Amino acid sequence: EAKARGEGGHQRYVTGMESRAAERSRRHAELRRAVAEDQFVLHYQPVVTLPEGSMAGAEALVRWQHPDRGLLGPGEFIEAAEETGLIVPLGRWVLREAVRQAAAWRTELGEAAPRTVSVNASPRQLQDPDFAAEVAGALAEAGLPAAGLTVEITESTAVGGGATQTNLAAVREMGVRVALDDFGTGASTLSLLVDCPVDQIKLDRSFVPEPGRDAIARAVLQLAQAMDVEAVAEGVETPEQAARLTEMGYRRAQGYHFARPMPADRLSVLEPMIPGRRAGP
Ligand code: C2E
Ligand code: MG
Ligand code: MG
Ligand code: MG
Repeated sequence: EAKARGEGGHQRYVTGMESRAAERSRRHAELRRAVAEDQFVLHYQPVVTLPEGSMAGAEALVRWQHPDRGLLGPGEFIEAAEETGLIVPLGRWVLREAVRQAAAWRTELGEAAPRTVSVNASPRQLQDPDFAAEVAGALAEAGLPAAGLTVEITESTAVGGGATQTNLAAVREMGVRVALDDFGTGASTLSLLVDCPVDQIKLDRSFVPEPGRDAIARAVLQLAQAMDVEAVAEGVETPEQAARLTEMGYRRAQGYHFARPMPADRLSVLEPMIPGRRAGP
């Protein structure tokens, strides 16, 4: 560091800083523009019943249709969206689009439509005092019954401040379901489930059972049953895992073994892809 204070070194150091900062602000500008120009799409991943494999719901997962870089997953932009606050307008779009699609599936598929569509909501969104009103507005505009929407939060969101608790209580009061995502990976205590009541717990995929390593999956199911909360196993990749979860008593699962996230129009014609899915009307 001291050496870098020589004229050339100092220059190089500052230039490096500037270009990192410049790169960052360029990425942020790009993201801001993407939000303004609607460069996002939602893919949907089925949540299925065990043991039947019928579609019980679908989770909306956002992707960025980048003009040069192709389709980008949330790992490439959600953090930047959080940092810049762009997650609020982006999340608003995700909510409205998922609710619109959920209502459209009900019209198109009737009984075969996913019963509920899940949307991931970030801490910043839940802290926004307008969140519950936006949810109500989106449901009313699309004509979707509240139970047709599930809002997924993580443990860190659930302990968050601002209007979070008011928003969560308000949407549950409407009949919207709330799910605790990635359960077991946060730093919160089990008392969270008392302080912040939810309708569904999603067992994080790191706890999907492997031979000789299924204690957490069992314990979380028992906890969910005792609290009358639905348990979903995430990240199920193999038939062995699906069988083991079924044996344990899990009734809901999600993962590549059943179906990958896909565009909405592919989910509509999914029937042959999920063994045992009940035929539509
Ligand atoms: P998540 O909500 O826990 O979503 C599940 C992630 O696991 C998805 O990744 C999904 O594609 C992936 N996945 C599903 N089945 C399997 C499997 O069997 N094996 C493995 N290895 N992975 C599986 P994706 O789409 O890349 O999303 C990553 C995360 O980004 C999500 O995790 C969620 O936290 C966040 N995210 C996605 N969409 C949104 C959004 O609209 N808003 C916000 N705030 N966050 C979002
Ligand atoms: Mg999720
Ligand atoms: Mg998850
Ligand atoms: Mg996650």
